[in-house]
Amino acid sequence: MTHDYDLFVIGGGSGGVRAARIAAGHGARVALAEEFRVGGTCVIRGCVPKKLMVYASQFSEAFEDAAGYGWTVPPASFDWATLIAHKDREIDRLNAIYISNLTAAGAALFQSRAVIEDPHTVRILAEDRTVTARVILVATGGTPWLDLSLPGIEHVITSNEVFYLEEMPRRVVIAGGGYIAVEFAGIFNGLGAETTLVYRGGEILRGFDDELRAAVRGEMEKRGVAFRFNVIFTSIERQADGLLATLSDGTTLAGDEVLFATGRRPSTEGIGLEAAGVALTARGAVKVDHEGRSSVPSIYAVGDVTDRVNLTPVAIREGHAFADAVFGGHPASVDHTHVPTAVFSHPELGTVGLTEGDAAQAFADVDVYKASFRPMLATLSGRDERMLMKILVDARSDRVLGVHIMGHGAAELAQVLGIAVRMGATKADFDATMAVHPTAAEELVTMRTPVARLRREAA
Ligand code: NDP
Repeated sequence: MTHDYDLFVIGGGSGGVRAARIAAGHGARVALAEEFRVGGTCVIRGCVPKKLMVYASQFSEAFEDAAGYGWTVPPASFDWATLIAHKDREIDRLNAIYISNLTAAGAALFQSRAVIEDPHTVRILAEDRTVTARVILVATGGTPWLDLSLPGIEHVITSNEVFYLEEMPRRVVIAGGGYIAVEFAGIFNGLGAETTLVYRGGEILRGFDDELRAAVRGEMEKRGVAFRFNVIFTSIERQADGLLATLSDGTTLAGDEVLFATGRRPSTEGIGLEAAGVALTARGAVKVDHEGRSSVPSIYAVGDVTDRVNLTPVAIREGHAFADAVFGGHPASVDHTHVPTAVFSHPELGTVGLTEGDAAQAFADVDVYKASFRPMLATLSGRDERMLMKILVDARSDRVLGVHIMGHGAAELAQVLGIAVRMGATKADFDATMAVHPTAAEELVTMRTPVARLRREAA
């Protein structure tokens, strides 16, 4: 039987676009449907505009630090509308590049929602017609999750709206302690808003190394972010001068905006997956095998909709591997271990490999190396600031299990350290590497003595 296409991709984000382009390069006849904007969450309302806003927020500190280096900076002012307009222009440019890359690769683009009707048929809603494909790829990503039972939840914004606010909020209340909550706390605080982060647990960034979590929070507090721990929201009301959030301890917080960043869920509703017989996990993600194949042999999924490692580069790698395997004849599965990651908080957190807690669970003998120091930039600026680096080593094999960094450039370092850790570098390899002087990163190759030797008693 012949189909209209070899591959129909639902979702024009990082994973879907990569899969479409690579499959087309292998000679497949490809179509892609996107109902919002090609580029997906990362490009349109995620990583990219977020990073631009992080850059914007860092100038306030740079202006302050300049004084210690002899500069007299006139009182600085910030214009939100200018930032948003310039950001929008850049996102439009990237959106256009994504579209032209797709079409240049020979893929057909449908600006429409697409719904699966059966294992080989997709309905293009905007054109009210169906097309058929040998293989369907679900790459619909995720969407912010909100507790809809919370009174007043309709007043809050999520990461979908925060990039398009018409005015800069002067007081911001943020719910959640994960990537998005912590990054936006840094952004709004840096831009001059009174910022409070409210988290149900006792420390931000669950899942990261405990010492680094506390260190990032401490540095954020020094910069003026307020934290409220072990409380949840009980209601949010609109009042004449903004919003009033009431917390579970009875206290209230006033804000011009309340940003909820309480996690994301896979976007699997209303695209015909159940009807086609595609099995989902309890969290609503498409269940896939190591090649990305769902319970229906002609339907695959990549990226956040599979709820594995929900990061853009992982989705891109999954999309690429899928296209190579299914259309290029090169089966390859994606290695989801040793994924370096960064939180673009202020200060940044960059990490690869195991946390101290996880390393101590998994290995009997772990040596902990640590450097905590004042970065050189802070000497003349006088800023009260620390940088923290931590290396975890399996004392038996000398292999580096994890590296965690807080401070300037931590994300850039995590990328490079990811190569070393993935290759199985030992502490001796780090030690044998010549330092680059004067840098903060040279600490990574000059830590000689463990600060702790974690030993598990033989049972
Ligand atoms: P995260 O999963 O990082 O964090 C969600 C936060 O919300 C956690 O602190 C969680 O608490 C809290 N939470 C969850 N449910 C509730 C609830 N019912 N009530 C109160 N709090 C709750 O999600 P984000 O929304 O911050 O980000 C989504 C994903 O996007 C991330 O997981 C990441 O994969 C990706 N991302 C990556 C970035 C990067 O690479 N720099 C940047 C931004 C996003 P608890 O910890 O207690 O469960």
